Order: sequence, then C-alpha cells, then structure tokens
Amino acid sequence: MTPQPRDEGPVPGRDWDRAVELISSAEEVALACHISPDGDALGSTLAVGLALRAVGKRVVASFGERGFTVPRLLRFLPGQDLLVDPDDYPAAPELMISFDAPIPDRLGELARVAGKARELVVVDHHPSNTGFGTLNLVDPGAAATAVLAEELIRRLGLPVDRDIATCLYAGLVTDTGSFRHSSTTSEVHAMAGRLIATGLNPEEIARELWDRSPFGYLRVLGLALERVVLEPEAGDGLGLVWTYVTHDDREAYGLPYHEVEGIIDVVRRTDDADVAVILKEDDEGAWQVSTRSKGGIDLSRVCATLGGGGHAKAAGFTSHQPVEQTMAAFRALLRRAA
Ligand code: AMP
Ligand code: MN
Ligand code: MN
Repeated sequence: MTPQPRDEGPVPGRDWDRAVELISSAEEVALACHISPDGDALGSTLAVGLALRAVGKRVVASFGERGFTVPRLLRFLPGQDLLVDPDDYPAAPELMISFDAPIPDRLGELARVAGKARELVVVDHHPSNTGFGTLNLVDPGAAATAVLAEELIRRLGLPVDRDIATCLYAGLVTDTGSFRHSSTTSEVHAMAGRLIATGLNPEEIARELWDRSPFGYLRVLGLALERVVLEPEAGDGLGLVWTYVTHDDREAYGLPYHEVEGIIDVVRRTDDADVAVILKEDDEGAWQVSTRSKGGIDLSRVCATLGGGGHAKAAGFTSHQPVEQTMAAFRALLRRAA
C-alpha cells in the first residue's frame, strides 16, 4: 500500500523534491531532534535514519542535551546505534535534518551546529515553526512529525520495514494521545494501518511507552495529586487545574525527569477545568511547564508570550521563577486570552 502524494498540502511538491535531491546527493546526513525528546521527535529521527542507512547512506543522529541520555521509555526504539553524543556530532554538517523542533533553541546545543550546516531541512508540525531551515517541510495540519517523516521516506522511494514502522508508530501514538486528540483523522488511522501491516506490535509499544514506570512514579504521582489545585474562575469562567513536582520529590524516589512527563495526562482528566498545568522542576532547577486546553483557548499563544510554544491544545514553556510567580504570570495571560 502506497500513500498518495499530498502535493496540494501545505508542503509544496517542489519542496519535497528538493529534500529528496539534497538527501540523495549528500555524502552524510546529520539528523537531530528537540531536547528532552518524546516519541515523535526521536521516533521520526530514528525512522529516517534507519531508512537512509538501509540504502548505504552515512547517518548520524543526536539531540543537543548535556548528559545526553535517551529517556528510558524510548530505549525500545530500534536504531539507537545511530545516536552519537552531541560532542561527537559534525561541527558543520553538509546536510542536517531537524525533527519536531519549532525553533532552533529547541535543538539545545545542536542549535549552533544547525546554524553552520550547509543545508538545514526542517521537518516539523508545530504551527509556531519559524521556518529556520534552508528548506522547511512544515505542516501544522500533520498530527505528528512522524507523518512527515513517513512521507519523506516514501518520497525517497525507501521501504518502511518493521523497525522503521515501530519508530513512526511511536511518534503517531505519542502525539495523538493514542488516537484520542482532535488530530486523529482517517489519514492518521490509515497510516497506523500501514505501519501495523509491517508486523509491529502495538501492545508492546504501548507498554514500553506508558506501562513500565518504576514504583516510585506512583508515589510522586501521589504527591502531585495531593497538591493539585482547582481554580474554577481563573480566567473569565475558564477553569484551571494545576499542580507541580519538585526536584526533591523525584530525588526521594530516584526518578529521572522524563518519568514525570506523563502526569499532565492525569491532571487534565477533570471535567471541571478547561486548562490543566503542571510545573516540573528539572535537574538544573528550572521549571518545565506543560499546559493543556480542551479547546476554549489557544495555549500556544499564551506559552509563546512566556518564551515557549507548542500547539493550541498542548503547549509549554520554561520558567526560572518560583511556582507561585510563574502561575501568576500564566493566570494573567489566561485572563487576557479568554
Ligand atoms: P509537553 O508539555 O512537554 O508535552 O509539550 C507540549 C508541547 O509544547 C510540545 O509541542 C512542545 O514542543 C511544546 N513545548 C513544551 N515545552 C516547551 C518549551 N520550553 N519551549 C517551547 N515549546 C515547548
Ligand atoms: Mn515533540
Ligand atoms: Mn510532535
């Protein structure tokens, strides 16, 4: 089954052609995704990496993070051996491809390298994408960057085997919230169908992504839920539910930062709030703020004002202020945006 070309879509056919040209003529392709990679970022990167390596292309992949560790829940993804420490990444690649990053900043330490790449192809689906590549394959209508990664592989004429499909599927289920978000279209299910047809195991992937937390996760989840606050009138009748997880909370149970990233999906469950927020203190003492909306408000704009970005219903920002101050700033913007 071959998907139909989407020449009418937001990425013009000539841009896809140019991407194919650039990749075909490159000796080496350097791939990168955003820091704190999720299933979509790393899945898209490794999928394209595996597809290119299978036809003999030299490939390196990385993400620009100090310490450079792949989150536990993504270690099942095939193609990890493509990954190199950002220190060993080419300093000025002839061709670099960035996945799932709306702004160079999200590439962390590799943002500098991206600026030095002879050609930079940006593959992304964030509406806030600034088009920072020399070529931009950006479709805000795509449910995941993995959708664009699949299209790129198809346009290169490369086969999608089970390993590549596993990486793409991880991206698709991550960003659609397991086919629950508004981005879940018939095309998304058709893509999932194509991927599952390669023989991948959806049950196994779901377990790897969501059901293998250490016991300490439950304790930290408990702490977050004990502290949860409901503000029914936070922004002009717009209910807000929010909580936080400190570095000390995680330290007490030996939990790395990425283990608490899923807590927002519990917090957002209440029907009594339109907006859900969690502040997570990272290992550097900064607060990574995740926000979710049920649709009444465009959080990508609110978060962009606070130096972050994302999608209308799922966005985030980084704060170096204490919890209460951060929430005060967020609340004020919420009130204005409502
Ligand atoms: P998360 O809450 O981490 O799952 O992220 C939700 C969305 O917000 C994703 O599309 C991220 O790209 C975006 N996002 C999260 N944190 C930041 C940040 N600090 N800066 C820019 N975008 C962010
Ligand atoms: Mn992402
Ligand atoms: Mn994504």
